[in-house]
Amino acid sequence: YVAKKNGEPFTQFRSGMLSLLKEKADLEEAFRSALKNDEIVPHYQPLIDLGTGRIQGFEALARWTHNSLGSIPPTVFIPLAEEIGLIGELSNRLFERACLDATQWPADITLSFNLSPTELTDKALSNRLLQTLSKTGLDARRLEIEITENVLIQDLATATSILADIHAAGIRIALDDFGTGYSNLAQVSNLQFDRIKIDRSLLAGFVENERQKKVVEAIITFGKGLGVPMTAEGIETVGQATQLQNIGCACGQGFYFGRAIPAEDAFKLLPLRDSELSNRLDLISEA
Ligand code: C2E
Ligand code: MG
Ligand code: MG
Ligand code: MG
Repeated sequence: YVAKKNGEPFTQFRSGMLSLLKEKADLEEAFRSALKNDEIVPHYQPLIDLGTGRIQGFEALARWTHNSLGSIPPTVFIPLAEEIGLIGELSNRLFERACLDATQWPADITLSFNLSPTELTDKALSNRLLQTLSKTGLDARRLEIEITENVLIQDLATATSILADIHAAGIRIALDDFGTGYSNLAQVSNLQFDRIKIDRSLLAGFVENERQKKVVEAIITFGKGLGVPMTAEGIETVGQATQLQNIGCACGQGFYFGRAIPAEDAFKLLPLRDSELSNRLDLISEA
């Protein structure tokens, strides 16, 4: 009706759609070229042992800064890579780079690496990971793979057998973003995760809100019951860090401790991990 009355809205709609399609095609092209030229690289966010205040490892987070488009977040290019069938290739490259970086760190510092749900349908995944470990010389026991619950709602049988292969190789498996998805507790307890990461959305209002605090405490108790160490994601304030430390959360991650930084900076941070971070720990115990 609108289009009939006046051609303009339809034309606008059409040109709007075309420019969206054009934008998407441009982004896809930019992505393909970035992938080819290794312009998408892992940065590293520290994981802090809340008991000691020390860095226990780093999580690799993919970063892409495009010449003209600027910084494009992984929440945009990871789904794009999945959609156009290039997630395996991207992941392989990021993983090899991350393993190489991790071999430069002291042997007690772990590497956490995210796998996307579609990779957990690839039966060759564990071999792929093992090949890269042996090529780079990184010990499997220093590696922790992070997966989300989404892998469990796709093909559970395939995902479970792939995860078993990964586990058998000595690689640990963490359940990421816990508390946002289906949170099928039966599956979570069956799958024997080595770590559960509490999604940062559960930390919003956590210090002020008694109910929210009870929820996080219950999740940590749940993890303790299963004997699985818990990591809280998205710690932004000393108040949150202190509370989590008090309720016995093993590990923490968030802007309060540090954002993801380039490999060279992560490397430089490590010699400081006792002095600098014990300062942070002082902050924690003062608050
Ligand atoms: P994730 O694995 O849950 O990673 C944590 C995300 O939370 C990161 O966002 C990190 O920068 C952000 N974050 C950490 N601390 C804080 C905080 O205190 N406050 C706030 N507001 N945010 C915080 P990022 O890097 O944008 O990554 C988003 C998601 O993209 C990741 O969530 C992960 O699912 C995915 N991703 C990132 N890199 C990779 C990768 O190499 N491979 C795959 N498959 N997925 C990746
Ligand atoms: Mg993660
Ligand atoms: Mg997460
Ligand atoms: Mg996430």
